[in-house]
Amino acid sequence: MNPLIRKALNGPYQLSRGEIRELLSLNDTEELFHAAYEVKLRHTGKGVSLRGLIELGNYCGKDCYYCGIRKSNYKVGRYRLSEDDVVRMAHWAYEQEYGSIVLQSGELESEENTAFIERILRRIHTFAGENLGVTLCLGEQSEEVYRRWLEAGAHRYLLRIETSSSELYTKLHPANHSFVRRKECLHTLKRIGYQTGSGVMCGLPGQTLDDLANDILFFHEMDLDMIGMGPYLPHRDTPLGKGIELTPEYKESQLKLGLKMIAVTRLYLHDVNIASTTALQALDDRGREQGLLAGANVIMPNITDTEYRRNYQLYENKPCLDENSAQCRNCLRWRVLSVGEEINWGKRGDPPHFRKGFSK
Ligand code: SAM
Ligand code: SF4
Repeated sequence: MNPLIRKALNGPYQLSRGEIRELLSLNDTEELFHAAYEVKLRHTGKGVSLRGLIELGNYCGKDCYYCGIRKSNYKVGRYRLSEDDVVRMAHWAYEQEYGSIVLQSGELESEENTAFIERILRRIHTFAGENLGVTLCLGEQSEEVYRRWLEAGAHRYLLRIETSSSELYTKLHPANHSFVRRKECLHTLKRIGYQTGSGVMCGLPGQTLDDLANDILFFHEMDLDMIGMGPYLPHRDTPLGKGIELTPEYKESQLKLGLKMIAVTRLYLHDVNIASTTALQALDDRGREQGLLAGANVIMPNITDTEYRRNYQLYENKPCLDENSAQCRNCLRWRVLSVGEEINWGKRGDPPHFRKGFSK
C-alpha cells in the first residue's frame, strides 16, 4: 500500500502539505478511493444522507466571473419562488423522508430578503420542528442576519470559500468582492452556532495542486463540519468560461480532479460530511455515484419545480433539467443502491464532526 495512504488511514490530520499534494497528483486512483471509502464507512457507516435542494431564486447582487447567474448575465430570465411554493417544496421533502433540505439562491442583502427567508424558516419549523435539517446557502450576510435565520430555525450554513488562495480569489471576482469578508463570514457562522460548511471549485483556470492542497488544510484550519466542493464547469456567458471548450478530455480531467479532492479531503479530515455534488454528474452520468465511492456521504437532489431549473444554470450541462422531484427521488434511490450504499431516509444526518449538535 502507498505509505501516505497508510499514514492517512491511521487518523485525521496526519499529512503534510507536500504529502497532500502528492496524493492529489496520483494517476492511479484505485487505492486512494478505496481507502477514502473505508474512512467514510468508519465514520458514517453504509449510508448516504440526502439534502433536498430548493433553488429559491436567481437574482444576485454579485458578479462572480465563473457563475452563470451573475448579475451582469442579461440572458438569464430572472425568477424568485413564492413563499408558499418554497414551503410546499420543503413539506414535500419532509413527507418523502429526505431528512434535510438546502435553501439556495443568489446573494441578496436586503431587509426584504432577510424577512422572506425568516418567514419561510418559521413556517417550515411549524410542521417539521427539529426533524428536518435546514441548511442555508445564501451567501455573505451580516452577523445579525445570520443570527435571525438561526433563531428562525436554520441549523446549517454552506458558504464556499471558492479557493483559499486570496490571489486566485481576486482573479475570479470583481474588485468589490472581498476574500477577507467571505472568510470572516465563515468565522461568524461557526462562532454563533451553525453547523458550518465550505468548499472550493476544483480545476479553476490558474489553480495549482498546491492551491488545492492548501484548500484542504484550510478546511481543517477553519474547523469545518461539512465540505461541499466540486469541479469548476464553464458557462459560455461568463468572463471565465467563454473561451473554454467542454471536450471529452477536459471533462475527464475535471471529473478525476473533483473525485481526488473528495478522497484526499476524506483521508485528511475523516469525520466531516462531504457532498457528492451535481457538478460531478454534469461531467459523467455516474459522477455522483463515483463521488460516493471516493468518500462522500451526502447527495443533494434537486427538488425545485422543473419549470424553474433552466434558469438556475451556474454552468452548462446541468443535469436533471427536465425531471421532476418524484422522478429524481426514484432515480437517486436506484443510483445509491447500485453502488452498494443505502439512503438514510428520515434522518437529518448531522456531521459527526459537529460536537454541539442534536443528532438523531
Ligand atoms: N450565492 C451564494 C454563494 O455564492 O455562496 C449561493 C449560491 S452559489 C450559485 C453556490 C455555488 O455555486 C458557489 O459557491 C460556487 O462554488 C458554485 N458555482 C458557481 N458557478 C459555478 C461554476 N461555473 N462551476 C461550478 N460551480 C459553480
Ligand atoms: Fe451570485 Fe453565488 Fe453566482 Fe456569485 S456564485 S454570482 S454570489 S449566485
